[in-house]
Amino acid sequence: MARYTDAVCKLCRREGQKLFLKGERCLGPKCAIERRNYPPGIHGRRAAARRKVSDYGMQLREKQKVRRIYGVMERQFRRYFKEAARRKGMTGVTLLTILERRLDNVVYRLGFADSRAQARQLVRHGHFEVVRKDKARKTDIPSFQVDPGDVIAVRQGSRSKPYFKERLQLLEQATPPAWLTLDVNNMRGTVLREPTREDIEIPLNEQLIVEYYSR
Ligand code: SF4
Repeated sequence: MARYTDAVCKLCRREGQKLFLKGERCLGPKCAIERRNYPPGIHGRRAAARRKVSDYGMQLREKQKVRRIYGVMERQFRRYFKEAARRKGMTGVTLLTILERRLDNVVYRLGFADSRAQARQLVRHGHFEVVRKDKARKTDIPSFQVDPGDVIAVRQGSRSKPYFKERLQLLEQATPPAWLTLDVNNMRGTVLREPTREDIEIPLNEQLIVEYYSR
C-alpha cells in the first residue's frame, strides 16, 4: 500500500500550520513550525513573503492539509470524496466523518498512539481487533470504517508487549472525543455514535475541499 515516506515536518511547513504528525515532538520546541515557519525549499522564505494565493490555491491547500492530517493518498481521498458526495447531507462534513471513522484514526483518538502514523503501524501489525455484533475479528486494515456499537480492543496477545504496558499510564490521562469511550483497564474503546462536525476540532474549512473537487 502506498504511503508518504518523506520528512513529515515539511508537510506542516508547506501548509503553514501544525498538522500534528509526529506525536510528542509536535508539542515541544523542536517542532519545525516553531523554528522555521515558512515553506520548505531554498526559495521557501522568499516565496512566502511574495505569495498571493488564488481561490484555486486555497482550495488545493485545504484539500492537501486534510489529506495529510489523516495520512491518506490522493486516490483514496478522491474515493472518499465520491462516497461522501453520494450520501445524503453536507458533502464536506460527510467526508470528514468518513475520515474520522477510519480505524487508524480511532486508535489514535482513543490514545493508543501518539500520532495517526503510529496508530496506522500498530493496526498494520495486527495489535487490534474489532468486536462487531459479539464477533471479535483481528483487523489490520487502517482504513477499516468503524460503526456505532463497535468495540476496538488491543488483542490479548499484544497486551503484554512492553509498548502497551507502558501505554497504560498514558491511557489514564487520555481524553477521547465524545463519540468514543475508553475502558483503560481492558484496553478497549467503544464507538458510541457517529462523529459530528463538532467532534473534529482541527481548524479546517471542508467547503473549500468540496469546491476543489467540484471545479
Ligand atoms: Fe508538524 Fe509535528 Fe513536525 Fe511540528 S513536529 S512540524 S507539528 S509534524
